[in-house]
Amino acid sequence: MPLYFWPMNYQKIINGIFKEVSECKDNGIVASYIPALKKVNPNKFGVSLCTIKNDCFGVGDFEEKFSIQSISKVFTLTLALKLIGVKLWKRVDVEPSGDPFNSLVQLEFEKGIPRNPLINSGALVVCDVLISELKNPKKELLQFVQKLANNKNINYNLEVMQSETEHGFKNAAHVNLMKSFNNIENDVDEVLDLYYHMCSLEMTCSELATSFLIFSNGGKLSYTNEQIITRSASKRINATILTCGFYDESGEFAFRVGLPGKSGVGGGIVAIYPNEYAITVWSPKLNKNGNSLKGMTVLEKFTTKTASSIF
Ligand code: GLN
Repeated sequence: MPLYFWPMNYQKIINGIFKEVSECKDNGIVASYIPALKKVNPNKFGVSLCTIKNDCFGVGDFEEKFSIQSISKVFTLTLALKLIGVKLWKRVDVEPSGDPFNSLVQLEFEKGIPRNPLINSGALVVCDVLISELKNPKKELLQFVQKLANNKNINYNLEVMQSETEHGFKNAAHVNLMKSFNNIENDVDEVLDLYYHMCSLEMTCSELATSFLIFSNGGKLSYTNEQIITRSASKRINATILTCGFYDESGEFAFRVGLPGKSGVGGGIVAIYPNEYAITVWSPKLNKNGNSLKGMTVLEKFTTKTASSIF
């Protein structure tokens, strides 16, 4: 039985869950393989929920910028689909990988076609598409994200970008392997540069929740009603997020939370409830699969209390 009934007092619900989860022991660990990410205060914790009626709620550190890392793969995917449509699926598949985000294992067997656009290899192919299609991909990607978030104050963090560039040996291996299978059109370093910029995007919980509202709203911006992507593209992005957004823990997230959701190693998670809201949680301590430990717990409690799962 849900504990709350429509219309929900979202502020009260997230306050209650925030307090409950703040008191839980958290033995996750902050990502350290990108040295610049280690600098974050591990105890940061914020939650923000925005509805398609443009009401926004938040608690804790929800107005502080953090490194969104792989959550940004959803933005590049959306922009690439807008630019080249279904042709994208010839170069990247839509199957869950069941492997960690940076695994190279399947890529050689599957002849340089990544399993899906949300693992590193898939996002690298998507970056390659953006470089082929756009005059100034870094600038245009940033403008696209600013538009979705209705906020011009969103930027790349160049220190994080630089740190990843210096330690990104595995990502370089992915692009080179795909290039050997003719699935990368542009220069390897140019693809990596766009990918690292994308990963270094910094946003607050409320900016992220706002920017994901198009996926709750059939591809339309909730604040202007502008159709950014088709309803069908939005449906497909949600399906990809649901099945692939947590890598080898996508089943667990669907099982516990019951919503399409995307995580990043910066400790952010954003989830979408169609026709109603997008919700972001940020807590940098990660579980062994690289997903925010508190983030998963908050969302599990939230969808249970509000009975707002898609299932
Ligand atoms: N920038 C990270 C990487 O390429 C992104 C990983 C993630 O957030 N899961 O390794």
